[in-house]
Amino acid sequence: MAESNFVDYVKIYCRSGRGGRGSAHMRRAKYVPNGGPDGGNGGRGGNIYLRGNHNYWTLLHLRYERHVFAGHGGNGSKARSSGKDGEDRYIDVPCGTVVYNAETGEYICDVTEDGQVVLLLKGGRGGLGNWNFRTATNQAPRYAQPGEPMQEMTVIMELKLLADVGLVGFPNAGKSTLLSAVSSARPKIANYPFTTLEPSLGIVSYRDNQSFVMADIPGIIEGASEGKGLGLRFLRHIERNSLLLFMVPGDTDDICKEYEVLLKELATFNPEMLDKQRVLAVTKSDLLDAELIQMLSEHLPDVPHVFISSVTGMGIAELKDLLWKELNSESNKLQSITAQAGMVHRNKNLALLPEELAAMGEDEDIQFVDEDDVEDLDDFEYEEDWDEEEPRQ
Ligand code: GDP
Ligand code: MG
Repeated sequence: MAESNFVDYVKIYCRSGRGGRGSAHMRRAKYVPNGGPDGGNGGRGGNIYLRGNHNYWTLLHLRYERHVFAGHGGNGSKARSSGKDGEDRYIDVPCGTVVYNAETGEYICDVTEDGQVVLLLKGGRGGLGNWNFRTATNQAPRYAQPGEPMQEMTVIMELKLLADVGLVGFPNAGKSTLLSAVSSARPKIANYPFTTLEPSLGIVSYRDNQSFVMADIPGIIEGASEGKGLGLRFLRHIERNSLLLFMVPGDTDDICKEYEVLLKELATFNPEMLDKQRVLAVTKSDLLDAELIQMLSEHLPDVPHVFISSVTGMGIAELKDLLWKELNSESNKLQSITAQAGMVHRNKNLALLPEELAAMGEDEDIQFVDEDDVEDLDDFEYEEDWDEEEPRQ
């Protein structure tokens, strides 16, 4: 098989920047009798962020990215000049990326929305220069803080496709054909199992400028949830779909039984899958005559269903109507992609909204001082000589 362009798993070593050292410089100027401490603060180390980007559909662009390093903060220097902040790095990922710590397996975050930014590793804060440590009792501190260390982590990123409708059916059920018929996606179609090794997404347009996303997921076979066959690796892609479209060919001996087997597979994989709304499409209905359709429809499982044929177009408009109706029903609202994304967004303290991120940028004045080192700065009285810049408040 040719190397796949569908990359849904990458492992990357990430390291934020170390904070710059504060300077312990003593000012010596010709006509200033005392000089004094004038060491500036170190710059902060660069952060590493993840950023959702809807122009990416896979993790292919990260496949050869073995490490990502943010820049180190520059050291502080004399005349109270601060070191430069280290360069931040953004890792762009497709929406639907889940990130784990590769060593501990701990879940870190989900990136679900375009433009969503998540702080992955914070750069070390810069150390304070001795200018900050002068006090009434110690007017000439000869020490400064070192910068905080960098952070490192090897992360695993996994792509879970976000789609509104996930197609569930055994190989040959007609999933790829349907996707081709209702969207501009062009999945491979063939009359043998496992043609679809890569899930593909299609945008299905619906009436006036509305649309939903449909995902064709490689066929699951019986036992897929126990790790047999190719199914398992792909099953996780449908965890997120807000509605599942079950597809069973009309010429199947026992449609109900096949539907039950599919359900059981999903439940074994993840019982929550059963909470999703379901629609049943009886495919290849062009192979059935009207009488048979009538008879079959009386014995179908108790879910909204429709007889379709991707070949003749029979029932396709009806299917779209049904899917749209179910997607927009009240009970499904809770599970919609946006609602899920919102929850993930707010629950994870690692995730920042763009506004929050902007606010962080303003917080450049470093406000940390080891209490042991410094007495109360408010009580500090200035000496005449220290008139270099505006007095410290
Ligand atoms: P998948 O494995 O579920 O993706 O199934 P495919 O879409 O690859 O279809 C499997 C086979 O069924 C192909 O030979 C298709 O041409 C055929 N097929 C799909 N849809 C229809 C249909 O509506 N009517 C008929 N007669 N054949 C179909
Ligand atoms: Mg297929």
